[in-house]
Amino acid sequence: MLEHDVLVIGAGLAGMRAAIAARAEGASVAIISKVHPVRSHSNAAQGGINAALTDRGDGWEDHAYDTVKGSDYLGDQDAIEVMCQSAGQALIDMEHFGVTFNRDDEGKLGTRAFGGQRRARTFFVGDFTGQAMLHVMFEQLIKSGVRRYEEWFVTGLIEEDGRVCGVTAIEIRTGQVFVIRSKTVIFCTGGLGRLFEPSTNALIVTGDGMALAYNAGAQLMDMEMVQYHPTTLAGSGVLISEAARGEGAYLLDKNGERFMERYAPNMMELASRDVVSRAEQTELNAGNGVNGCVYLDCRHLGKALIMEKLSQIREIGIDLAGVDMITDTIPIRPGMHYMMGGIKTDVDGQTNLPGVYAAGECACVSVHGGNRLGANSLLDTIVFGQRSGVHAAQACRDQEYIEFDVEQAARREERRIQEVIDRPQNGDRIGSVRLAMGESMNRNLAVYRDEAGMLETMHDLQGLKEKYTRVPVDNKNRVFNTDLVFALELGFMLDCAETIAVSALERKDSRGAQARTDYPNRDDENWMKHIVTVKGEEGPEISYSPVSITRWTPEERKY
Ligand SMILES: Cc1cc2nc3c(=O)[nH]c(=O)nc-3n(C[C@H](O)[C@H](O)[C@H](O)COP(=O)(O)OP(=O)(O)OC[C@H]3O[C@@H](n4cnc5c(N)ncnc54)[C@H](O)[C@@H]3O)c2cc1C
Repeated sequence: MLEHDVLVIGAGLAGMRAAIAARAEGASVAIISKVHPVRSHSNAAQGGINAALTDRGDGWEDHAYDTVKGSDYLGDQDAIEVMCQSAGQALIDMEHFGVTFNRDDEGKLGTRAFGGQRRARTFFVGDFTGQAMLHVMFEQLIKSGVRRYEEWFVTGLIEEDGRVCGVTAIEIRTGQVFVIRSKTVIFCTGGLGRLFEPSTNALIVTGDGMALAYNAGAQLMDMEMVQYHPTTLAGSGVLISEAARGEGAYLLDKNGERFMERYAPNMMELASRDVVSRAEQTELNAGNGVNGCVYLDCRHLGKALIMEKLSQIREIGIDLAGVDMITDTIPIRPGMHYMMGGIKTDVDGQTNLPGVYAAGECACVSVHGGNRLGANSLLDTIVFGQRSGVHAAQACRDQEYIEFDVEQAARREERRIQEVIDRPQNGDRIGSVRLAMGESMNRNLAVYRDEAGMLETMHDLQGLKEKYTRVPVDNKNRVFNTDLVFALELGFMLDCAETIAVSALERKDSRGAQARTDYPNRDDENWMKHIVTVKGEEGPEISYSPVSITRWTPEERKY
């Protein structure tokens, strides 16, 4: 029997931090991941992690204010206070775990500037901060004695008497279906970037956890808030980190003009991401780009700085676009990057489902509101990962395992999976349905949105969901059946896509990442509230949740 007090789904930074924290509380803990843990998308994080350290004359209140303003006042201020107050200790803990953050000339932890913040408070390891953190965290995970299910794919939640008491999962290596019992479950399954094509996200970022939780009755919140990053590479859409602008890079239009002067005269290229992406898109729409791109200019930064701090994105530019940022400008454009919305939680990661927690990108606390500041996500993963781990472990102490027929649950899921494999071969291909979804989302739920476009995508999604019930799985074997995994992921993606489109249609104002050409203004009187979706008979059902305002009164945002 596979059973654990706490089962963490997902082994990115949030999941590993949660598992280590739960283990430290004395719980028996397991972590499950569809890929080897260090291949989680956290590995791709480039730019850094924010914290306000008092010995630099910085204060958590300043960090919190920048975060609140960045969120376009949709972030919950009580949660933002918790995150920013915890940031210093969370960062030092990472340093003590062994992360070799870059140092400044005095040998102290070095910082770089990041968008939407009035001070340089982003700590970093070159331009591969996520990789450095994830590998160190993995060592700590091994040391902690957490049981690891690596390359296992969670397919469903098991509920008895209204309480989640385990999951069903496929061991990808053998194809066998297992039931893992647990007293509590923590979702740390990451974002959903690949609902959009292209995206900066890894191909595995498919919203599985959000869909699993949603299908079990969890509330999803702020799903309309999808971040388009201002600097994604022409063609592939791979990320060129904000660290480049943090180190001083410019954005230029086709005439070589620094157009941000007209949009954000104070912060220029380091205004918050939604503002910069909108500026770029406006310039592109006005015909001031070249082949759908504007330029990122790093040439004046000099070879030495680029080689020390931006070497990885330099290589990306050379390999994928044939440009060397030491001597050339880089063609870039806004591209889908991050999901502000997700499974609604409180500051301890608790969802509306008893015993179910969520942390990291799959969760919505909501500390990012309408727009996340760069380098606040890594912080979010470790702060709320840890809090969820502690809370879930403590909640298990006086609790017994819920009894249910494990064999029967495994057999039922086994049959369902076999039916998917056995589908006839005449439906549309997985890849074509996935691409059609991604292109429709990227056409109509991008930087600018309007009702007609979003209705078109709703219509597309209905058709694609219908096609999904017939997509064939080519590989009929069980061993390493990645075809099967892709098919199941596509189902999760379509569920999430629908909640995004429905929420975005519902919000009739422009705020943060949602910029509607048919409702161009922020309307605090009617829309200063979160949109919440739950699964209903006919699709997503909408309700609202109030925004927590503690000390920062909403005002017009200028950079
Ligand atoms: C290119 C890129 C650069 C970024 N740079 C930065 C940055 O510099 N600073 C910053 O703050 N943020 C950055 N971000 C955002 C940040 O990296 C992510 O939001 C964060 O790392 C997400 O961590 P996570 O632990 O929530 O999820 P992930 O790291 O995505 O991990 C998700 C885990 O869930 C598992 N999983 C998912 N579904 C299943 C399933 N069905 N069964 C089993 N396991 C499953 C996966 O295997 C994986 O282990 C960047 C993001 C990208 C894409």
